[in-house]
Amino acid sequence: MRDFRRYVALVFLLSTTFLGCAAATEEKRPRAVDLLLVNGHIYTSNPRQPWARALAIQGSRIVAVGDEKQLAALRGPATRVIDLGGRMAMPGIIDSHSHFLDGSISLDQVSLDDVYTIPEMQKRVRAYAAAHPERAWLLGRGWVYDAFKPSGLPTKEILDEVVPDRPMVLECYDGHSVWPNSRALALAGIDKNTPDPQHAGIVVGAVVHDPATGEPTGVLKEEAVDLVRRVIPKPGREEKLRALRAGLREANRHGLTSALNASGSLEEMELYDELRRQGELTVRMTTSLMMEPQLDAKTLAMYEEGRRRFQDEWVRGGVIKAFMDGVIESHTAAMIEPYSDDPKLSGSLNYTPEQFRSNVAELDRRNFQVITHAIGGRAVRVTLDVYEAAAQANGPRDRRFRIEHIENINPQDIPRFGRMGVIASMQPFHCYPEPNLLNVWARNVGPERLPYSFAWQAIAAGGAMLAFGSDWPVVSLDPFIGIQNAVTRQDWNGQPAEGFVSAQRVTLDAALAAYTCDAAYAEFEETRKGTLDRGKLADLIVLSQDLYAVKPLEIRKTVPVLTMVGGQIVYEDSSATLSALGR
Ligand SMILES: [Zn+2]
Repeated sequence: MRDFRRYVALVFLLSTTFLGCAAATEEKRPRAVDLLLVNGHIYTSNPRQPWARALAIQGSRIVAVGDEKQLAALRGPATRVIDLGGRMAMPGIIDSHSHFLDGSISLDQVSLDDVYTIPEMQKRVRAYAAAHPERAWLLGRGWVYDAFKPSGLPTKEILDEVVPDRPMVLECYDGHSVWPNSRALALAGIDKNTPDPQHAGIVVGAVVHDPATGEPTGVLKEEAVDLVRRVIPKPGREEKLRALRAGLREANRHGLTSALNASGSLEEMELYDELRRQGELTVRMTTSLMMEPQLDAKTLAMYEEGRRRFQDEWVRGGVIKAFMDGVIESHTAAMIEPYSDDPKLSGSLNYTPEQFRSNVAELDRRNFQVITHAIGGRAVRVTLDVYEAAAQANGPRDRRFRIEHIENINPQDIPRFGRMGVIASMQPFHCYPEPNLLNVWARNVGPERLPYSFAWQAIAAGGAMLAFGSDWPVVSLDPFIGIQNAVTRQDWNGQPAEGFVSAQRVTLDAALAAYTCDAAYAEFEETRKGTLDRGKLADLIVLSQDLYAVKPLEIRKTVPVLTMVGGQIVYEDSSATLSALGR
């Protein structure tokens, strides 16, 4: 019986390996394929066959994986052969959490990502304003709280000194606060009388006022961001398409072949669809729609429309994103115990638990996948409670609830991820040990909660699946800085020597799985992508260096020399002359 089964399996394997078997012409040789990758060190992400030397591709799919000898019969006169020169190849990166349109638009704005002092910021801003005299509004992003001592918040005067005449708004690196100058505050009508925004009696943001004068100081937090955002002219359709083209190039250059868009809209899905029709979509996009506090019939119909219209391997809907809380640095993340640096504060939830429970139950009943931003321990706990209640109410199904970020967690909640099958979608580079994390974030969390910071290892050990991503443009979309940080939790100089909460590091195998096969699972796409396997989409990257051969602190220096999506080369480092070898 056992042998018979093995025989059947072998016949099945052979007949599917040579998909193009030309039965009609009675030909014994398998049909030649379009493309052969040979002489590679190919990491497949498939635990049954983790490494291979060669790969055969027909159209958009992988048809065979093995070594050159095994695949020799698939080579015909028209087959293109690419010699990988012993380089490491792996499945294309699936970025499980990005804000793709915002990121794409930010490519053309002023970036404060790498400046940490006020004079440097002013210099950067002045130069940007001078270079763009035509722009009515000056926009940018990337400042960190730690640059503004001792309050941790910037002021409008810093910008007024360099841009007095035009409105300017700079978003914090985390996207949860903005820093407008006086001109922007005036155009938004924000003054000493502007109250904090509320939803149904819950305060959901803050206009920071000077305690002495009552004047706005120049920082808007959380939903108060909308007070100024609504007066900033919106980019038009062509402008967005142009930005997305640049964003797609940037993503492919860094090895991304898929992304989950964590803050999308129906309009954004239409833009991806338009790019696809023009043959320009080179990253597969799953786009989530925002959970409205009140799910009325019109909102639900919009969610249904997104799922009905966009449901293939290039543009996908069916995911609803909720924001449960804010961020730890500005004390807006909801914690179980008060913040360590200020016992009066413990953050707050954006929904009442009852409202969130009824929303999630309704969406789950309609087979939507719900993903929830939850950063503080209380937000994580309430989200798990609500997921559990929805699963109980609606009965068993393959629902794959996700929680995004999980920067801090109460140890009692850790095993619930594995038990309930909730996916932990986390962004390794958010835990990069720079001054903002060590001085502001860690101070606010406090020593008792610190061991459960970005608890990748503990959550995975509890049986949960991790899906890693960037959160671009909060940080760079380069996955290799994320992979390095996932395995080191050290800065690029190797500090702290023991790693920041080093018990929560993960292995390289685990990090790669979280960026490939497990990330595919997290978007219900594991039968199509995530491993280099027969029948899967030919989404892969070839790397400048072998991740398994270099020191952990060298991983970030890795760059893709070739990125392929659906069998098409979408990025190639011209100096690597890879595919030229086969022409
Ligand atoms: Zn995000």
